[in-house]
Amino acid sequence: MDADVIVIGLGAAGSYASWNLACNGASVLGLEAQSLIHDDGAYAGESRLFRAAYHEGAHYVPLLLASRRAWLELADESLAPIFHPTGVLSIGSPADPRMEQVRRSLAAADIPHTTFTTAELAARYPQHQGLSDEIAVLDELGGALRPESAVTEIQRRATAAGAELRGNSPVLSIEETGDAVRVVTPEGTLTAKQVIVSAGIWTPMLLPTLDRHLTIKPIALTWFAPQNPSDFDPAVFPAFIRDHGAVHIFGVPTLDGSLVKAGYDAKWGDIDAPEHLERRLSAAERAKISRDIHTLIPGLPDGIAKHSVHADIFTADKTPVIGRISDRVTVGTGYSGHGFKFTPAFGDLLADIALGRTPEFDISRLSPHRFAA
Ligand SMILES: Cc1cc2nc3c(=O)[nH]c(=O)nc-3n(C[C@H](O)[C@H](O)[C@H](O)COP(=O)(O)OP(=O)(O)OC[C@H]3O[C@@H](n4cnc5c(N)ncnc54)[C@H](O)[C@@H]3O)c2cc1C
Repeated sequence: MDADVIVIGLGAAGSYASWNLACNGASVLGLEAQSLIHDDGAYAGESRLFRAAYHEGAHYVPLLLASRRAWLELADESLAPIFHPTGVLSIGSPADPRMEQVRRSLAAADIPHTTFTTAELAARYPQHQGLSDEIAVLDELGGALRPESAVTEIQRRATAAGAELRGNSPVLSIEETGDAVRVVTPEGTLTAKQVIVSAGIWTPMLLPTLDRHLTIKPIALTWFAPQNPSDFDPAVFPAFIRDHGAVHIFGVPTLDGSLVKAGYDAKWGDIDAPEHLERRLSAAERAKISRDIHTLIPGLPDGIAKHSVHADIFTADKTPVIGRISDRVTVGTGYSGHGFKFTPAFGDLLADIALGRTPEFDISRLSPHRFAA
């Protein structure tokens, strides 16, 4: 055997699982198709929102709180910026079901927060304009994660704990035999007792049976250069997500004192394979995003300073897939545009499942076996 566990894909969750496994005494080989840190991963793009008041459902709160504790520990012991506790404002109509989920999440764990009426929101955060019947909740546990430095730090910890992480090591296929899993690479075949597939948008190539349950969706990120960056300093401008009628925008205060990330959740159209991802927005797309953001946040100019396009892999119910799909293969995928914040919890779950330990959380909702039903 080359390892107890081979982890395929060293994005955030795969790297975290490698760290956990090594800390638990397993011999771990992590294989990453590209360099260990790269711009094609779903984690690329400077920042990721962490929210505890969760639009997607209060049942995620235990996983979110466990993840936040782990992020803070990692940040405390690291020189690199990992977590900016900016808070996150959820802005939307009081009747919006997502705001109802926010209220339920807050109640589920007594999450510290402040609520704002439309008038209070306008007075406290005048950067947000064009408010109709929008109210807001400031989730005080929310913030902005720094994905590139976080993944680097997690990989550093994994290596220090004994994991062997190899960049530029693509896996071509996996095959389960009676007593092992064979992992085929261009350099030859490796064997392990267990395999974790954590391959993001490339997962269906290794696990074709999941293909019809997963869809690759592009997500664009856009940054603006305000005339007054101090209006967008974390001290006065929390990260936010805002539902304004059909327009859904999200953003992060300036982390470098000059650029502000403010994105637009548009329906860009699904793609059928990672290599078909168009990395640039068209002029028309840039103009529309810029106009909408400028209308809602006039302190951000009508003109995009920089942009990038990435992709994540989605399930139809937007619920992640974490679990064993056969005796020796565990998968973590389908994070549906929301996975980064859960990295510690998802990494721990993947490691627990591969080692045959009972996970700390009830994750029956995430099981890949729901597809069979
Ligand atoms: C633009 C954008 C914004 C987002 N915003 C947020 C946010 O604000 N908050 C949040 O929580 N989440 C957010 N997400 C979602 C989150 O970033 C993703 O859900 C998460 O990063 C996915 O992680 P992953 O490990 O599945 O994939 P990845 O990070 O892509 O990792 C998969 C890795 O596997 C490697 N790999 C693939 N195939 C192979 C192979 N055959 N052999 C070896 N290695 C292989 C890849 O090279 C890659 O490094 C966002 C996503 C995007 C795209």
